[in-house]
Amino acid sequence: MKLDYLTIFPEYLAPLQLSLPGKAIESGLLEIAVHDIRQWAHDRHNTVDDTPYGGGAGMVMKPEPFGEAFDELAIAGATVVVPTPSGRPFTQADAEDLATKDRLVFLCGRYEGIDQRVLDHAASIADVRELSLGDYVLNGGEVAALAITEAVVRLIPGFMGNAESLVEESHQDGLLEYPSYTKPQTWRGHEVPEILRSGNHGAIAAWRLEQRRVRTAERRPDLLSVSELASSESLRPER
Ligand code: SAM
Repeated sequence: MKLDYLTIFPEYLAPLQLSLPGKAIESGLLEIAVHDIRQWAHDRHNTVDDTPYGGGAGMVMKPEPFGEAFDELAIAGATVVVPTPSGRPFTQADAEDLATKDRLVFLCGRYEGIDQRVLDHAASIADVRELSLGDYVLNGGEVAALAITEAVVRLIPGFMGNAESLVEESHQDGLLEYPSYTKPQTWRGHEVPEILRSGNHGAIAAWRLEQRRVRTAERRPDLLSVSELASSESLRPER
């Protein structure tokens, strides 16, 4: 997969070279290019923003540098990911879909965001996804691009050392993950649940499924269907 990032803070994306993405770059599974948008701004100060039409606070990212970047990077046919608080909430289903693409181009906004015509033009030559990380506002799109990248690339076959770690994860099938424990058996007075030490694999699987349903019902009832919610309510411990 080829990944391009358009940003005015290339150094913000340095973590892409770390850990698992770094190894995937070395092995050739991922090709990553971070581009400073200012290289396509031609005035003395490499200006990439201007005041908004119609007035209002803040600045808007100008369209021309993006247009030149699109031409030079030949983005036609790519999937263009635009992190924005006004996008659709980014989900595991989006990550799974993006993991099947050959090329992702991230547009990292700053200030009040990017001139709308950049997105309209991109949509005429590429597949544009406007995605929100959550219902809050960040200073820029870089952190969101990093989060989306990490969620996507770990799903590419061959990326994870142990593909089994992708099984039974939160959001994989609509339920949150069960609680995990490791050694020691007792820590600061807290015991590992007895069932996990029983060696009874059927009972352990049933306990974990119950924990997943209860957790999801308590923390994210929005993820459960009405019937699942009703059965989870009956599993919930008395308080
Ligand atoms: N004026 C914009 C609004 O109210 O929707 C907020 C702009 S924000 C200060 C600057 C940039 O941060 C955005 O263009 C976007 O790239 C990024 N950003 C902020 N919050 C985000 C979120 N929740 N999800 C994804 N990207 C976000």
